[in-house]
Amino acid sequence: MGRTLLSGLFYCPVIFIQWVLIVSSDLLQRFLFDNAAIRGEWVSLQESWQEVLNRRDYPAPIRRALGEMMGAAALLTATVKIDGRLVLQIRSQGPVSLMMVECTSDNTLRAFAQWDGELPEQAGLSSLTGEGTLAITIEVAGAKNPYQGVVNVQGDSIAETLESYFERSEQLATRIWLCANDHNVSGLFLQQLPSDEEGKEKAEEDWSRISQLAATITDEELLTLEVETLLHRLFHEEEVRLFDPTALAFACTCSRERVAETISMLGQEEAEDIIDAEGGIEVACEFCNEHYHFDKVDVAEIFTDNIASEGDPGTLH
Ligand SMILES: [Zn+2]
Repeated sequence: MGRTLLSGLFYCPVIFIQWVLIVSSDLLQRFLFDNAAIRGEWVSLQESWQEVLNRRDYPAPIRRALGEMMGAAALLTATVKIDGRLVLQIRSQGPVSLMMVECTSDNTLRAFAQWDGELPEQAGLSSLTGEGTLAITIEVAGAKNPYQGVVNVQGDSIAETLESYFERSEQLATRIWLCANDHNVSGLFLQQLPSDEEGKEKAEEDWSRISQLAATITDEELLTLEVETLLHRLFHEEEVRLFDPTALAFACTCSRERVAETISMLGQEEAEDIIDAEGGIEVACEFCNEHYHFDKVDVAEIFTDNIASEGDPGTLH
């Protein structure tokens, strides 16, 4: 009887995990080459990408760039294996002032962009951002200071910009391919693993051969092929080992409580001034476009609650 119970407990999560993987259209697949010190990842996003597109009417060039950033964030998060979140941000003086994507270690994604005016249909990344910078921020749960790396936007693509970041910061040869259309986002990532002096020559040969094979990929193949088919098409003469795929999903962490916290940081006087002038405080989440409204009574409650909690030093909030 004890044994039945134990095997029952063990078996349920396995079924659950498989079920999640089968139904998800958004997957990240890590892989390794058995005969070369190179790691790889492939990502495909459909539902989470549609969630982003449904929330704002982005012009076509922003859709391409933001989609590629979303694919990149998923690929990079899988390389750092942290408990926390990774944020990619492009800031610029160009027509697109901000593009931001967040991917968490819980495998959730969210993204948004801010822009001004009309954008030509075919505008490339550099004409959206001018002399923009791309920042990679990694926040680890419990750590005081986040890690941040910054690189200038290079060439005309997110992939090229990230490749130059890796070359400078990690000195690991890295290739990234990203593609986004209105239906899905896909990405492929290859990175050379560190090798010792003796293995250097073979490692260089392996990298040269495998990255050249990967470079034959087309946008069409990246967007449409299943991972097994794609890897077979590119690397059928290599030995590729696939890990279990990870399911990804759109999620936003905004809430009425968090907005109330932000209002409390304004201070009572300023919050009441806004109420007097505007009749209420209206806050929209940039990521999910959810609107939160606070009237005079709500705001009064925020500050009454604050006073109550300040008088109770024994409670942690
Ligand atoms: Zn939100």
